[in-house]
Amino acid sequence: MKYSLPQLPYAYSALEPFIDTKTMEIHYTKHHQTYIDKLNAVLDKHPDIADQPLEQLLANLDTLQIPEADKTAIRNHGGGHSNHSLFWQIMDEKKSVDQALVTSIEHEWNSLENFKKVFSDMGASLFGSGWIWLAQDGQKKLHLHAMPNQDSPLLHGHTPIIGLDVWEHAYYLKYQNKRAEYIAAWWNVLKLLP
Ligand code: MN
Repeated sequence: MKYSLPQLPYAYSALEPFIDTKTMEIHYTKHHQTYIDKLNAVLDKHPDIADQPLEQLLANLDTLQIPEADKTAIRNHGGGHSNHSLFWQIMDEKKSVDQALVTSIEHEWNSLENFKKVFSDMGASLFGSGWIWLAQDGQKKLHLHAMPNQDSPLLHGHTPIIGLDVWEHAYYLKYQNKRAEYIAAWWNVLKLLP
């Protein structure tokens, strides 16, 4: 098996009360693990590409010489593994603010407050399952994307910086249908921004 769960950098309970312990445990041990298992299964069929970094596979998905169904599996499950690996890293109970990122955000969206509002509104209005992304292009310009399913900004040549999982599995146990409340709470555990 090529990929395995990355270590969670904190306890399941660390993000309480904003993200509850049970959700963290299921999200990490069940949902993330399933993406990994299915990614490994499709890569087992294609040993010629399995050694390429996952980011490279996602960035060059269209050019891979494999069946369309297997490209879709890499997009969904490779995306799922990549996205969740970043998601765990950018959260913490203690803030670790990236001041350069704050400055860039203020430059692009006038204020951090306005950026959070735009990002939150995109999350609340995304139909179905997906992620909201802050990503940067090759010129290091920042962009916001609302993307369906487990699509990664890497698919479009952008590097993900901040991702918010708005799949129901990320919040339903605690917040049920109140996605906007989950998003409002989540800013408290996003370590990169004050
Ligand atoms: Mn998820």
